[in-house]
Amino acid sequence: ASHQIITRLEECLKERNLEDEVQVIATGCFGFCEKGPIVKVMPDNTFYVQVKPDDAEEIVNEHVIKGRKVERLLYKDPEKKEAVSDSKHMGFYKKQLRIALRNCGFIDPENIEEYIAREGYSALAKCITEMKPEEVINEIKLSGLRGRGGGGFPTGLKWEFASKYQADQKYVVCNADEGDPGAFMDRSIMEGDPHSVIEAMAICGYSIGATKGLVYIRAEYPLAIQRLKTAIHQAEEFGLLGENIFGTDFSFTIELRYGAGAFVCGEETALIHSMEGHRGEPTIKPPFPAESGYLNRPTNVNNVETLANIPAIIIKGANWFNKIGTERSKGTKVFALAGKINNVGLIEVPMGTTLREVIYEIGGGIKNGKKFKAVQTGGPSGGCLTEKHLDVPIDFDNLLASGSMMGSGGMIVMDEDDCMVSVAKFYLEFTVEESCGKCTPCRIGNKRLHEILDKITQGKGTMEDLETLKNLSRVIKDTALCGLGQTSPNPVLSTIDNFHDEYLAHIKDKK
Ligand code: SF4
Repeated sequence: ASHQIITRLEECLKERNLEDEVQVIATGCFGFCEKGPIVKVMPDNTFYVQVKPDDAEEIVNEHVIKGRKVERLLYKDPEKKEAVSDSKHMGFYKKQLRIALRNCGFIDPENIEEYIAREGYSALAKCITEMKPEEVINEIKLSGLRGRGGGGFPTGLKWEFASKYQADQKYVVCNADEGDPGAFMDRSIMEGDPHSVIEAMAICGYSIGATKGLVYIRAEYPLAIQRLKTAIHQAEEFGLLGENIFGTDFSFTIELRYGAGAFVCGEETALIHSMEGHRGEPTIKPPFPAESGYLNRPTNVNNVETLANIPAIIIKGANWFNKIGTERSKGTKVFALAGKINNVGLIEVPMGTTLREVIYEIGGGIKNGKKFKAVQTGGPSGGCLTEKHLDVPIDFDNLLASGSMMGSGGMIVMDEDDCMVSVAKFYLEFTVEESCGKCTPCRIGNKRLHEILDKITQGKGTMEDLETLKNLSRVIKDTALCGLGQTSPNPVLSTIDNFHDEYLAHIKDKK
């Protein structure tokens, strides 16, 4: 529909000879998926929601020509029942802070000049003309940025490790293999602001002494691939990638590598094997990729969202970033808010925001006035959090302590009608499908967990089965080779902990 709206807007402007005065620009995602497609009229910042191609004519006639807002297309505040035209005053945006998503919805991602106009590539210029590599690494360390792909490892420390190893060639890898069900954070960043990822990869390359960058991206993301390709080409044309960047002796190039959608390839050793043309299977660490990664050379792997924070940290400084968030989790986190929630969408909030604020203020509460039951954070590796966790400030450590994890940012909300045993079964189905099969606990153990869950949901389970679920889950967690297997029982354990009664309700013989 968005393409049709663009075409209709352009046609209407042309019919009125306004095509030279008013530009129609396709941007990346605004985040407010529930109310899309969105048309924003600038410079007065009017935000039209749920626009259809047939609305184009009225927008041009009324707003563009006569300067009158089209009331029926404005967002209606659900409480005050008033029309709101500026996104700043909408509940969905009020508590958000956009760092990684700072340019999404503001620029044409296919036009490098728009990125440059918003300080784009000035962080790279600052790094390579004013700072030594170790100073850049120190700045990232001071910022407190931790990896947004799920692990939460300090980014600056990771860069420092890679910088210490000497080799004829080092690599910077962007992990764009987003695989959590319901997650689309990285896709939106690449579609809406591809240059921020490219700029950050070049900054990382300068810091660790690498001249080659690789983006490992799912082949199922055609628009993100196309925008990255366009962005790389434009950056090369502007001399921002390639030889002697900004007239220095620093050179950096970026190529794309395509993944086939295997969830396990989000794990960095599996990702590297896949890029090398081997089966996407994890290996035991050490050696870590910082020492021996792609083609056995020192390799730094960061996820898309982590990288998208880098240029802003360099421009505004580590102290600015360090003041946002909680004591041990700095900055913001992007979440894909989905499930039984009124405002489905992509959000970015400061670390420390509570689940209640996310679900009720930004998310607008539960759909159809139903009661909140649980929220799954961390995707298939995470756990289900309940009413008692609603006031927990979201950060890496608090989510772990609550029995879940941050993961890459999927957040799926469930209401009173959802069966939590079925939810656990759904995630196990996913894990069984996605297990690479290399190690027995994950390959066989998860199949057994799934069989038992299936038996319980059919009303054929016993108390012994429930005990086996718990014991087997712990064994898999302790013995699986990689993060996929080590975390796969989390949805089972957290639902048993928090919704024990629901398991019992499925079991007839409770002796
Ligand atoms: Fe493969 Fe699962 Fe073992 Fe990881 S835990 S290596 S995904 S079988």
